[in-house]
Amino acid sequence: MKIHIVSGSQRKKPRAGDRRTTKKHGEQIRVFKMVTDMRGNVIGYDCTGGSQRYEWVAIEDADKHGAAHHWTREERLKFADVVVENGHTFKRGESTGVSSLAGLRVCGQCGIVRRADGQNKPCRGTVRVELRQPAIAVSDSTEGGAA
Ligand SMILES: [Zn+2]
Repeated sequence: MKIHIVSGSQRKKPRAGDRRTTKKHGEQIRVFKMVTDMRGNVIGYDCTGGSQRYEWVAIEDADKHGAAHHWTREERLKFADVVVENGHTFKRGESTGVSSLAGLRVCGQCGIVRRADGQNKPCRGTVRVELRQPAIAVSDSTEGGAA
């Protein structure tokens, strides 16, 4: 028996994270189809028919389908409720209650407001608060557990 292996796959296997743009829906992302209960709570993956099922959703809805990791950095900044970067948690400006911050990201740790284009430097990691050392060293050091 001869088996033909067709090279060059015209039909790509569907994968979560695939993108497409349609006239009707704009840009969409392929996600695992979820089974929801009557209240709309996700209760599992839809594998009816023996294989994982997929569906297309708007890019911004990816997180609702457990596919937020397929977002690009820009999309994450735009769509995620909370963006974690360098240990800092950027929340939506709306959640601060300050109307002028709507649509912006505010760092919950140091209060930095990200520029709308997201191009400002990321926070420098978790800021450590330290007591200032006195300019002149005091000689009787009881520190270090020598007492
Ligand atoms: Zn920060």
